[in-house]
Amino acid sequence: MTFDYDVIVIGGGINGCGVARDAAGRGYKVLLAEMNDLASGTSSASTKLIHGGLRYLEHREFRLVREALMEREVLWSLAPHIIWPLRFVLPHHSALRPAWMLRLGLFIYDHIGGRKKLPPTKVLDLRTDTAGIPLRDQFKKGFEYSDAWVQDARLVVLNARDAAERGAEILTRTEVTEVRRKAEGFSVSLFNRSAKSSRTVTGRVVVNAAGPWVDSVVSMASQGESPRNVRLVQGSHIVVRKLFAHDKAYIFQNSDKRIIFAIPYEDDFTLIGTTDRDHNGAPEAVRISTEETEYLCASASAYFKKQISPKDVVWSYSGIRPLFEQGASSAQEATRDYVLKVDGDKARGAMINVFGGKITTYRRLAESVLSEIEHLLGARKQSWTATAPLPGGDFAVDGFDDLVAKLVRRAPGVETATLRRLARLYGTSAFDILGGKGELGEIVAGDLGANEVDHLVKREWAVSTDDILWRRTKLGLRFSPSEVKALQAFLQQAASQAAVG
Ligand SMILES: Cc1cc2nc3c(=O)[nH]c(=O)nc-3n(C[C@H](O)[C@H](O)[C@H](O)COP(=O)(O)OP(=O)(O)OC[C@H]3O[C@@H](n4cnc5c(N)ncnc54)[C@H](O)[C@@H]3O)c2cc1C
Repeated sequence: MTFDYDVIVIGGGINGCGVARDAAGRGYKVLLAEMNDLASGTSSASTKLIHGGLRYLEHREFRLVREALMEREVLWSLAPHIIWPLRFVLPHHSALRPAWMLRLGLFIYDHIGGRKKLPPTKVLDLRTDTAGIPLRDQFKKGFEYSDAWVQDARLVVLNARDAAERGAEILTRTEVTEVRRKAEGFSVSLFNRSAKSSRTVTGRVVVNAAGPWVDSVVSMASQGESPRNVRLVQGSHIVVRKLFAHDKAYIFQNSDKRIIFAIPYEDDFTLIGTTDRDHNGAPEAVRISTEETEYLCASASAYFKKQISPKDVVWSYSGIRPLFEQGASSAQEATRDYVLKVDGDKARGAMINVFGGKITTYRRLAESVLSEIEHLLGARKQSWTATAPLPGGDFAVDGFDDLVAKLVRRAPGVETATLRRLARLYGTSAFDILGGKGELGEIVAGDLGANEVDHLVKREWAVSTDDILWRRTKLGLRFSPSEVKALQAFLQQAASQAAVG
């Protein structure tokens, strides 16, 4: 029997796009369907860390921590424009975990994860170190250790772009409304939300990477059963004006045993998060609550000299962790590791359901899914994603300033700050945006030029102002309402010209 596709992936978050990229690169015929925009689910609402998760050591999640730590330098080398090292300052709190415990945890963290380029842990005297300046005087001692930062939504889009360049079909605004098992393989119904049209395709293997919606896709394929494989745990972040002048992040311990981060964000801001609370409604209904905002303000104010209140919040966002349900008593204790469940076999074809997972481990998760696919469809090519740069990431991990200097030479008429912004978002693809003449094109608003918008629409599936301002870039933090309107008008004009052409 012939099928339209070898692999149909449901969900355009980091896990779906990571699987689609790996599978396309191994020569499988792949379709990915995402019902909204790429990364519109959990994958744009994370704390944006490529990290082992120091806290998970307390829950003895050694497998996860080790795998995640090892991924830090791998991912950094694949996309040094959107992933870079970040130092974390952990103040010692005399009433909370003792210093010996922090030192032991950090020793393990430094040594179990194949750290080669990232600098090791060191002890800080917060009375003299610049990291102590914004903190309350009671914090005298601290530790500093390494993890990494990622522009989460861009990581998703770059995986989708690379998947498409390797032959995958990526459909956004396309909802999977039915998954029907046939004698062999599956028929999958797709509803295009923009065109309001439906069609059905067939595939041998279906990968359910629907994140917080994973159980509703399981129930589609099992004709109405209502499984409960994931625990939906809400996490929210707030953004305030910059609270400190240096480029390190803080990790603060709270008296409820949780931790929160305060991270330098988009040059002029500080990102504070996250919370952990069970979510019982529909995943798309997630919103930060007043209590969460107050909790984050109070937690940060317990450490910073400056007291933070809800009126300081300039932006906030919330997402849902789809954590594998194994009966943990509290939301923060539920495992952050991923679990795959394969329903089917070689003869009939199978659905591979993905539960849980971190952005940090998406590439390893995709490799595990590909092992299952190879088992079902036959192997075609070895694992390859550990060394193949993502689009725009083909430069050295310490080559960012060089890249900016080259962009300045290409586009001497463009502000250096704008070229740095483009380098951070697009890496070497910034040359394509600037073109041979080194121009931004007609200015749409702020320093956003027509060439960049064109790139986002044609190569990165951007359709709406939110896609551009909040997921492809974070210009939403800076744009005035009239600038948003100008972008909206530009997109509408471009869409009507495309329809006529
Ligand atoms: C508050 C918070 C902080 C976090 N911080 C970190 C961190 O710092 N580092 C880290 O490594 N991880 C972090 N994580 C975890 C990480 O963000 C998630 O594990 C990851 O983003 C999950 O990706 P996903 O692809 O499985 O799900 P999603 O990103 O939610 O993608 C699933 C997609 O499936 C689509 N979909 C669903 N149903 C259908 C359908 N029927 N048809 C078509 N499409 C469908 C949805 O629209 C969605 O886009 C954090 C999570 C949260 C909530």
